[in-house]
Amino acid sequence: MKSLTILAQRQLRWPSIVLGATAVLLLTMSVQAASFKGDYPIRVGATVGMVADIVREVAGDHAAVTNIIGSGVDPHVYSPTRSDVAVLLRSDIIFYSGLLLEGQMTDILVKVSRKRPVYAVTERLQQEYLIHDNTTDHHDPHVWMDVSGWIKAVAVVADAMVAFDPVHADAYRQNAAAYQVRLHRLDDYAKKVIASIPDNQRVLVTAHDAFNYLGRAYGIEVMGIQGLSTESEAGLKDINRLVSLLVDRRIPAVFVETSVSDKNVKALIEGAAARGHQVVIGGELFSDAMGAAGTYEGTYEGMIDHNVTVVTRALGGNAPATGMQGKLAAH
Ligand code: ZN
Repeated sequence: MKSLTILAQRQLRWPSIVLGATAVLLLTMSVQAASFKGDYPIRVGATVGMVADIVREVAGDHAAVTNIIGSGVDPHVYSPTRSDVAVLLRSDIIFYSGLLLEGQMTDILVKVSRKRPVYAVTERLQQEYLIHDNTTDHHDPHVWMDVSGWIKAVAVVADAMVAFDPVHADAYRQNAAAYQVRLHRLDDYAKKVIASIPDNQRVLVTAHDAFNYLGRAYGIEVMGIQGLSTESEAGLKDINRLVSLLVDRRIPAVFVETSVSDKNVKALIEGAAARGHQVVIGGELFSDAMGAAGTYEGTYEGMIDHNVTVVTRALGGNAPATGMQGKLAAH
C-alpha cells in the first residue's frame, strides 16, 4: 500500500518506481512532444464525472470524453471492468482525479501510462493546500468540494490538451479561461449562501468525510460518520458522538450522499429521536459522483450549486430554491 501511495502522489506521468530516472525523463518528453496525429475527436478517458466535465468544457468538440465512473458510483471502491480497461486502452489521453481517490484503478492507470499521457488533475495542488488525514496518513482526495481548488485542476487539463494537440491551443486556453470565470462565480455564491446559515447551526453532518475542503473554503464545520474513504467502517462510538453533537447544538438536519449507503445517517436520526431531538434528512448531496448525465446536477457546476443550496436551506440559511442560476431541479 505504501508504494501505491508514493506512486499516486508522484503522479503517473512519472512512474519513477517502475523505471529509472533517466528513462522516465525520456518517456515523459517523448509522450509530450508528439502532438496528436490521429482523427478528431481526440479520444479522452476520464475516471470520475467531475474530471470528465472539465475535459468537456476545455476540449469542446475536439474531444470525445468517456466518463468511466458514472453517476451514483463510489470511486473509492470502484474496480475497473474489462470494458473500462478497453476504454482506457483505446484512449489517446487520460485524466483522473488522483490523491488515491481511484485507489483500485492505480495498477491499470500505471499500465496505460506507458503508451499515452495520463494526468492527475490534482497534480498542481501544493502540500500546504492539501488536507492531511492522520488516521490514514493520506491526503484527503475530495478537493473538488472547494471550487477555488478545482479551478487549478482546469489549468492542468488545459495545459495537457495544449501539449497534446497544439493546433487547437487557442481554443483550449479560451475555453478554460471562460470556464474558470464561471467557477469563480460559483465559488462566490457558495461563500455567500453558506455564510447566511445561523452560526450555531453551521455544521454539516454527512455519511462520509467528503466535505473537509468545502468546510475550510466556505466556513462550515463538517463531520462525516465514516472516514475519508467509504472503505472504513463507522463504529458505534462515532455514531453516539455525533448524536450528542446533534442534540446539544440543536442541529436540524443531516445529509445523505448519492454514492454512499444511508444506513449510518438513519442511525443518527434514530439516536437523536431517542433523546428527544428531531433531526431530518436535509437532502441528498453529491459527494464523489455527480447527478444523472444530461441534467444540470450532472455537471460540476450543478453538483456544487445543488450541494451548497440544499445544505444552506436545510440548516436555516438563505439560498434560492432553484440555486445560483435558477437551474436546480425541485428538491
Ligand atoms: Zn469520498
